[in-house]
Amino acid sequence: SRVVAFMNQKGGVGKTTTVVNLSAAIAEAGRSVLVLDLDPQAHATLHMGLEPGASERSIYDVLLDPDEAEHAAIEVRPNLAIIPAEVDQAAVEVELADAVDRRSRLRSALEKIRDRYEFILIDCPPSLGLLTVNGLAAAREVIVPMQAHFLALQGVGKLLETVQLVGQNVNPKLRVSGIVLCMHEETTRHAREVVADLEQFFEQSRGTEVPWAGARVYRPAIRRNIKIAESPSFGQTVFEYARWCAGAIDYQQVAQLLMEEWDQMLARRGMSEQIVTRGVSAGTAERTTA
Ligand code: ADP
Ligand code: MG
Repeated sequence: SRVVAFMNQKGGVGKTTTVVNLSAAIAEAGRSVLVLDLDPQAHATLHMGLEPGASERSIYDVLLDPDEAEHAAIEVRPNLAIIPAEVDQAAVEVELADAVDRRSRLRSALEKIRDRYEFILIDCPPSLGLLTVNGLAAAREVIVPMQAHFLALQGVGKLLETVQLVGQNVNPKLRVSGIVLCMHEETTRHAREVVADLEQFFEQSRGTEVPWAGARVYRPAIRRNIKIAESPSFGQTVFEYARWCAGAIDYQQVAQLLMEEWDQMLARRGMSEQIVTRGVSAGTAERTTA
């Protein structure tokens, strides 16, 4: 499965909104998705319409005992499951302080259940603590939600270096797939300049060894849209709350892109049987290295 951590140590940049709405769009396209809510604020859990603490098991229980993963996922929509957060899960830092495998608990948990889902999206807290480290260790890719501000641009280099640093320790295969621009003000010249700078930054990294050598700025940028901001308080995705608003259309298109990227990745790996089950001819799939 495609396991992606949505990470930015800044809060309020659009991580949770992006995880919830992308996962909803992918699930609506008929593909199975699992969301992992690593943030003790439990915003993704609430956004999906669940009460934190109401379910029997949370991601906290899974981190304490990876065998719990089998029973922790809750089906919240067709094709869409979540392992919810609970508010005191920050205590995991203390509880696991002496565990030698503390950074790879989530990875162990996913190994048991990942075959059931085609996409696994991880909502990371706005910090670099043990919860986020578990997210980065369990994922294959990182996507960075951010806003196209000048300061955000300076921060992005730093953030990418952090991903690299964490990656070298716990997950050398971790790659940065790209940036999703959230709350985008497309009409301002400033935003356009920042996007151009970002693209240039990634262009210069092509062919190098850095984890973001293959990264892109996902299009379209997600426009700032009031419906997106209103939907969480109803426990609804933006598609349930206002399917035809600008924000829903933007997220739908980025979700489409993520699915296409994944199909291309599978084709490149020559995993033809997975493609056949989706009704696409696998005759041309190359058998290159996995
Ligand atoms: P993070 O998870 O990074 O802390 P959130 O996804 O919670 O960020 O977003 C922060 C706030 O911005 C939330 O209130 C959310 O509803 C709002 N928001 C996110 N994306 C948009 C958007 N495209 N338009 C308007 N409001 C948005
Ligand atoms: Mg959040």
